[in-house]
Amino acid sequence: MPGQARSATSAIDTPTPPPPPLRPMPKLQATQIPVTPFQQNCALIWDAETLRGTVIDPGGDVPRILAAIAKAGVTIENILLTHGHLDHAGGADALRTALTESQGAPVPVIGPHRNDAFLLSGIEAQSRQYGIPDLQNATPDRFLEEGETVSIAGQDFGVLHCPGHAPGHVVFVNQALGFAVVGDVLFRGSIGRTDFPYGDHEALIHAIVTKLLPLGDEMRFLCGHGPGSTFGEERRTNPFLPR
Ligand SMILES: [Zn+2]
Ligand SMILES: [Zn+2]
Repeated sequence: MPGQARSATSAIDTPTPPPPPLRPMPKLQATQIPVTPFQQNCALIWDAETLRGTVIDPGGDVPRILAAIAKAGVTIENILLTHGHLDHAGGADALRTALTESQGAPVPVIGPHRNDAFLLSGIEAQSRQYGIPDLQNATPDRFLEEGETVSIAGQDFGVLHCPGHAPGHVVFVNQALGFAVVGDVLFRGSIGRTDFPYGDHEALIHAIVTKLLPLGDEMRFLCGHGPGSTFGEERRTNPFLPR
């Protein structure tokens, strides 16, 4: 967010108080719940004042996600998916069913881009191959497109379509908060794998370089596996990115 120009004419003995923020910074809190044998970071993000929140990428282990929601005392407004891989989406339908019943109102599953529909409908077959029980095909209430806006804990996040790791992968960004959720596009010191039949290494690098890094070095991100980082740290040190 661009800063306001400072007036240089205030009297020395009557300092001008700082202007009020253009809008109050929301008190967003986040916790990560590692799910499935892939240790995928399911994210629970909520507003500490309204206690309304969002679950991103509930890949499985739904009872543990529900326990984290109960511990935080949060009402979930929506469930977002970054892409269609089983470790990110395999618990989405079960979580929607459980929350819709416990909260008494529909909780929609939103995303990813429709180009991942084939992955979402293949989760059960894939999970049998990997020997992971209890994962389900995911059926989003709505797919997402580049440039749309979604609510995360009551804050508007822009949607960026970042294919390469998966053809329908989306990333959620809020420039004013300096915060992004990037799924398996970018990791601390690594990038998403592209050795799937539908993987596209060039598209992945292109998305990172043209869509994510220009958002600024200060942007912090959560990712699907391992610790988060900032775009600046990855721009400077990530060995998989061109420089
Ligand atoms: Zn993935
Ligand atoms: Zn993953």
